Amino acid sequence: MADSTGKQTSLEAKSPFELRVNLGNDVPETDVRTALAQGDMGFMHSFTTGSAVDGPGVRVVGWTSGCMWRCQYCHNPDTWTMRNGIPVSAPQAIQELSKYRHGLKTMSGGVTISGGEPLMQRRFTIKVLTGAKAMGIHTAIETNGFLGAELSDADLDNIDLVLLGLKAWGERHRALTGRDNAPTLELARRLAARRLPVWVRFVLVPGLTDDADEIAQIADFAAGLGNVERVDVLPFHQMGRFKWQALGIRYPLEHAEPPSNEAVERACGMFRARGLLTH
Ligand code: SF4
Repeated sequence: MADSTGKQTSLEAKSPFELRVNLGNDVPETDVRTALAQGDMGFMHSFTTGSAVDGPGVRVVGWTSGCMWRCQYCHNPDTWTMRNGIPVSAPQAIQELSKYRHGLKTMSGGVTISGGEPLMQRRFTIKVLTGAKAMGIHTAIETNGFLGAELSDADLDNIDLVLLGLKAWGERHRALTGRDNAPTLELARRLAARRLPVWVRFVLVPGLTDDADEIAQIADFAAGLGNVERVDVLPFHQMGRFKWQALGIRYPLEHAEPPSNEAVERACGMFRARGLLTH
């Protein structure tokens, strides 16, 4: 796939922190609509390999483009726009994964489809995960959960693990992400009812998501589900700042600092106090 300068862009990237824009601009609008409706084609930022943090074992991660949220701390704002991604057919994406299937099994890993928000392209995402599962690869999805109601029970049958972002609580959630968290909580309850394993992801930002009462509410909710295998307390970082600058978007956390080790430990302790494992 060539970008606007004619330079070829590989589907494989070294990391999701590569800035990628306008790679799907040439796809006609009608083709985009058909792709979304049928899932035969998707838009992807990239595939990366060797992740040890996006699910169990060593994983290939497929980073989809398109997200309806605008999290203040988002470190990949180039994935907000679907057409910034590379158009990829579902068979092509599955073929890409098939290259790693033996290695992934050896390393007890699998594939994780992340984003952006992979449920923006639900049909494509599920087709890729279904193809992976048919090859015996462990499947995971990392999602903000907002479109969880669109997942059918059959869709969920092809997902072994959900990495679910619980980003904030109450009004703070709307201020942080631009959206209400009720659909996310609803998906969490549905996954719990199905006993589908969940890893909760919580990003700790000093002055924004470090209120003890709010963390306690998130921890209470997560602990009450019964299917949360672990909680990742992710310290905020500034690795995505250059993307906001390059895209010309005002970055509300321009001057925010990462949390101290003590603050991370305090937050982890609140989850652990409720019987949850943290990393
Ligand atoms: S849900 Fe994820 S991709 Fe979407 S804005 Fe938030 S952090 Fe960024």
